[in-house]
Amino acid sequence: MAENSGKLYLVSIGPGNENYLTRRALAAIAEAEVVVGYKTYLNLVKDLLVGKEIIGSGMRQELERCGAACKLAMAGKKVAMISSGDVGIYGMAGPSYEVLLHSGWEPESGIEVEVIPGVTALSSCAALVGAPLTHDFCAISLSDLMTPWPVIEKRLKAAAEADFVIALYNPKSGKRTQHIIEAQKIFLSHRSPKTPVAIVNAAFRQKEQITLSNLANMTNQQIGMQTTLLIGNSQTFIRANTMITPRGYTKKYDIDEVIDILK
Ligand code: SAH
Repeated sequence: MAENSGKLYLVSIGPGNENYLTRRALAAIAEAEVVVGYKTYLNLVKDLLVGKEIIGSGMRQELERCGAACKLAMAGKKVAMISSGDVGIYGMAGPSYEVLLHSGWEPESGIEVEVIPGVTALSSCAALVGAPLTHDFCAISLSDLMTPWPVIEKRLKAAAEADFVIALYNPKSGKRTQHIIEAQKIFLSHRSPKTPVAIVNAAFRQKEQITLSNLANMTNQQIGMQTTLLIGNSQTFIRANTMITPRGYTKKYDIDEVIDILK
């Protein structure tokens, strides 16, 4: 039994549209006395925050935010720390646990911590373009804020070579514009220039923009902080404005039989 009534909820809020916010996330935010998060994310759920103490801060102050959230929970408050998409995918779940452990937290005696999963960008972006992730895929972030570029480069090469469908998070920022070009070069050395690529900006948000392109042309499109790219594998195709990665490499199912049923 935890000795402290404080609780830290690590809450996923999905892509930024209430239809994709889980009931558990809603309940956690409702129960919280304090809500902590990056300003843009707080803004996405602002209707749920009436009457609560809010702690917002800019992008580079993530650890400070974690520290503040943990401190308040340890002081007995119910705290919700929110992240867009899934809080455990390039989100605040990891840093929060690290801060807690560093402060001597133990699950048996310390404050209760609950991670609430959500719809991550790769799921929402995939849904908007069809079914590009129906076979093995991986996610790679192009941000070198926390990861050295040579490590990212190594992973891009390995994923490209292994024919994974690849979801690229954090493809480009105002200052970091070259990584996406480098990534494109790596993919082109392993895949056809015609490989389908989906570029989804602000999925399920007001400024949503969806572009279907290919490996040769992907960098000619508008790519920013709210963009996720889905790079197809050798089997991925685009038809009827829909990006599809077949479920099987071998034809284990007979489509013609199903077509007969539809007749
Ligand atoms: N925890 C988040 C990811 C945070 S990293 C999640 O699970 O989705 C930030 C990156 O996520 C952005 O640079 C972008 O690549 C992607 N992203 C987040 N929200 C998005 C959205 N609504 N549409 C497209 N990409 C998004």
